[in-house]
Amino acid sequence: MSPTKKRIYLSPPHMGEWEQVYLREAFESNWIAPLGEHVDEFEREVAQYVGSRGAVAVSSGTAAIHLALCLLGVKPNETVFCSTFTFVASANPILYTGAAPVFIDSDPGSWNMSAQALQRALQDAAIQNKLPKAVIVVNLYGQSSDMEAILRLCTQYEVPVIEDAAESLGATYQGKASGSFGEYGVFSFNGNKIITTSGGGMLVSDNLEGLEKARFLATQARDQARHYQHSEIGYNYRLSNLLAAIGRGQLQILDERVARRRQIFAHYQQALKEYAGIAFMPEIPEGRSTRWLTVMTMDEDVCGVSAREMVESLEEENIEARRTWKPMHLQPLYAGQPYYSHERSVSVSDQLFSQGICLPSGSSMTDEDIDRVIDSIKKRLWK
Ligand SMILES: *Cc1c(COP(=O)(O)O)cnc(C)c1O
Repeated sequence: MSPTKKRIYLSPPHMGEWEQVYLREAFESNWIAPLGEHVDEFEREVAQYVGSRGAVAVSSGTAAIHLALCLLGVKPNETVFCSTFTFVASANPILYTGAAPVFIDSDPGSWNMSAQALQRALQDAAIQNKLPKAVIVVNLYGQSSDMEAILRLCTQYEVPVIEDAAESLGATYQGKASGSFGEYGVFSFNGNKIITTSGGGMLVSDNLEGLEKARFLATQARDQARHYQHSEIGYNYRLSNLLAAIGRGQLQILDERVARRRQIFAHYQQALKEYAGIAFMPEIPEGRSTRWLTVMTMDEDVCGVSAREMVESLEEENIEARRTWKPMHLQPLYAGQPYYSHERSVSVSDQLFSQGICLPSGSSMTDEDIDRVIDSIKKRLWK
């Protein structure tokens, strides 16, 4: 470890000019909590940005996924399909409802849900008369899934789609905002996401009735009565007015953040693409990725170094890189859950996990920072 070199983080928060202005406004009006005008405005602005009819601001992306499952009526002993190649927060809300997940592999062209694996899973489920109550499609690392193929299948089997767009706010697919394709879309404003409120999430939909129900469930499911009366189980999932104030400031500069992240990706790719054994996450033909994180794969046999070893040697240079997500079907928590690989004998996500590495991609990185990461990578490749 070289303590003299400043640390380069994977994806740190990057504030703009308006966050503090909105925060001060909230303080001065004493609308610290609960809710308040910034929450209403933040919901309206996110809905407008993604082109959905409405939005509900909540305390996390995980909470938004849980609410979406509740709204779709997912119950114990039912099943929900979910991308295997993702962060555990995509799948855990399935367990909160008492349902069980079935995991679906990635497509090599998008790294997101494989339509051909999904098709086999749906066919089998239809034969067993156990179609899932929902499909959670995850859009990783700033990129939409191939929603056309996935929606065609889900429409055919009449299964609603939840889009986990926690990592893809700002991306588009066929010119439309990622997160606006499913029955419900989910965003996260956790600290490492492309914009952040320090913690928070958003549920978006064209189904205004569903969103009204989400608001109800997220505020302890309090019935319309003069006293505290409850007929259903509820949750404490709303976003605070202060965090919504930060979110409004962040949303104003989202497009700049996307542009910078794409530049950072291009910089890495330009410098490293000639190296045998290195490849970058592909961009799907009909999509525009935010490149939230620059992710590359390293073939150990060609590079002479594994993704794991590369992450370790970058750490010695005080650079924070990370492995790609460990697929859910490989997690001890989900041992024994059904899994559909892309081809019967080829699991794409297993390979992406063993070879993938996420490089520092924060929009506040300087070009010198990027060059430092690139030099450290090259140094290790030559060893
Ligand atoms: C961050 C993330 C979530 C969860 O969001 P939180 O706001 O941290 O709860 C869900 N899914 C994916 C793919 C994520 O990256």
